[in-house]
Amino acid sequence: MAATILDGNKIAGEIRAEVAADIKAMAAAGMQPGLAVVLVGHHPASEIYVRGKVKSCEELGIHSEKHIPPDTIETEELLELIDDLNRRDEIDGILVQLPLPSQVDSKRVLMAVDPAKDVDGFHPMNVGFLSTQRPGLVPCTPAGVMEILKRSGIPIASQEAVVVGRSDIVGKPVAMLLINGNATVTVCHSKTRNLPSVCRRADILVAAIGRAGMITRDYVKPGATVIDVGMNKVTDPEEFQRLFAGNAKREETFRAKGSTLVGDVHPEVAGVAGAITPVPGGVGPLTIAMLMVNTVKAAKLRRGNRMREMSRT
Ligand code: NDP
Repeated sequence: MAATILDGNKIAGEIRAEVAADIKAMAAAGMQPGLAVVLVGHHPASEIYVRGKVKSCEELGIHSEKHIPPDTIETEELLELIDDLNRRDEIDGILVQLPLPSQVDSKRVLMAVDPAKDVDGFHPMNVGFLSTQRPGLVPCTPAGVMEILKRSGIPIASQEAVVVGRSDIVGKPVAMLLINGNATVTVCHSKTRNLPSVCRRADILVAAIGRAGMITRDYVKPGATVIDVGMNKVTDPEEFQRLFAGNAKREETFRAKGSTLVGDVHPEVAGVAGAITPVPGGVGPLTIAMLMVNTVKAAKLRRGNRMREMSRT
């Protein structure tokens, strides 16, 4: 039987409606959440992501502003900009779009963001809050993965979960959220032995690898839930054929555009999984929705001054 498709656009829509209601209630109390996005230079993919984030803010009534310093900027100048945004009361969230140019010390910049405004959830203080189950800001994509599971009624507690990928941005926080949800979690990476057999243990398999279609059907237990975080652009016709041979609709767009977006999970997995997120239209839409959630959460936590109290306890 074909897998149930977990529709990320639909779930993101539900979340956005909830955020919109929250923002309306805040407006009635005279409060408007604000997000500042820092985009250094002109990186085409980053420009597209930032445009999507700003558009989403506008639609929901979040104040947003873009800061676009030149790509020759030095670390110290960027730190001054972050410091200024940290001090401004009407800014609740600061997002520094990655990657930063090579002359910039990215770690210093990310560390300089006030943890109470760190809507990406990358600051070590928020990482610590997540691992100790305190209120804080959780990275958007991992939070989106959890929303897909919860809102699709997929049980998490006592389930075997396998996460492939251990990045600070996706793999590790997803694993932490699944642990906090009482799953039994295994984290895999490029040095893991017998990866397919480890993955086959999973009731919930999360792929966050960055390799087009790497997870084939032999990695998946029949009936498992498969969450595909990967976003890979395929341009090679042979690679395309390995993934989508016989898929007339994809072939048409591939011919027209010369590329297609593919996850880390091979499309054949839909024939063995119980439920699966598509790419595009799975985890992707949740990332922006959760950024909106985090901005509103940051406004509530910070303006209620709870975050600083938490860091003192
Ligand atoms: P990273 O490159 O930072 O991490 C990739 C992880 O995959 C690493 O832990 C690496 O292992 C592991 N890995 C690589 N090759 C293999 C292999 N052959 N076998 C097992 N493990 C392997 O990537 P990210 O975590 O940032 O992103 C992962 C994917 O998710 C990408 O496709 C990215 O585009 C996508 N993404 C999607 C988002 C969305 O909104 N949908 C948001 C963010 C990311 P090791 O640590 O040993 O090197």
